Amino acid sequence: MRTLQLLSLSLCSALLLFSSRALADRFADVQVEATELAPGLYMLIGAGGNMAALTGDDGILLIDAQFAEMAGKIEATLSELATGQALQVLVNTHFHGDHVGGNAKLAAASRIIAHDNVRKRLQADSNFPAEGLPNLTFNDQLSLYMNGQPVLLTAMQPSHTDGDSIVWFKAANVVHMGDLMFEGRFPFIDTNAGGNLQAYMDVTRHVIASIDANTRVIPGHGVLTNQAGLERELRMMEATLAQVQQYKAEGLTLEAIITRGLGEQWQDWHWNFITEERWIRTLYQALAD
Ligand SMILES: [Zn+2]
Repeated sequence: MRTLQLLSLSLCSALLLFSSRALADRFADVQVEATELAPGLYMLIGAGGNMAALTGDDGILLIDAQFAEMAGKIEATLSELATGQALQVLVNTHFHGDHVGGNAKLAAASRIIAHDNVRKRLQADSNFPAEGLPNLTFNDQLSLYMNGQPVLLTAMQPSHTDGDSIVWFKAANVVHMGDLMFEGRFPFIDTNAGGNLQAYMDVTRHVIASIDANTRVIPGHGVLTNQAGLERELRMMEATLAQVQQYKAEGLTLEAIITRGLGEQWQDWHWNFITEERWIRTLYQALAD
């Protein structure tokens, strides 16, 4: 009995050790790639949600913070891009861990701005460090003036979550969408945190109508895109929603629709987090709402 307990204990710690190593390895080979979109304005890709950085005499404005494990690499990249400049302001586009995980390590001494509900949700999470909580919140619009240009934060209706913001760099004609855009893949609608597919589609339509063919669009995940990329994503959402609606009208159950699938045309949008099956469940649920 005792031997068995000891054995299971050591098996547990071996598994724990394995999973923490697997987690550390996940970030070991990740590099932070910076693309300059305008003088001093960069898109940064690493692990987790894409970031943007605006550098200049007023210091650094960073949009999103990826995971805590990425903080050292993000800092190293920022100091290469903006030697001697400190991070002054961090904006969180929403509360998900792959966008706020680095808050405390990167920005404990900075202004951290987000939608009211981002602070509420993070505060309710006992594992989230208090020094990483947003310390300036809003629920409509906020204009920042940094490094010679206006930066407009706009709260969106609950769509990916109930605390989504979009960040506009109007002078550079760049918009950071947070997770209101998953480039070339099925989007995640976090219905447990107030997300809503119809609203997500409305936000996509709103942004398409607000930008032009030259606007650079930073998606929450995936590569830099534009108005045509947003239109492509909207067509995918509309077409797959209509398809599931039709299957439902024909009397197919959710399980039958999953078995039938969405067809060859949408296979490229499937990815490890939002699989075709999970996307069908999201569509089906949206039709039941
Ligand atoms: Zn997210």
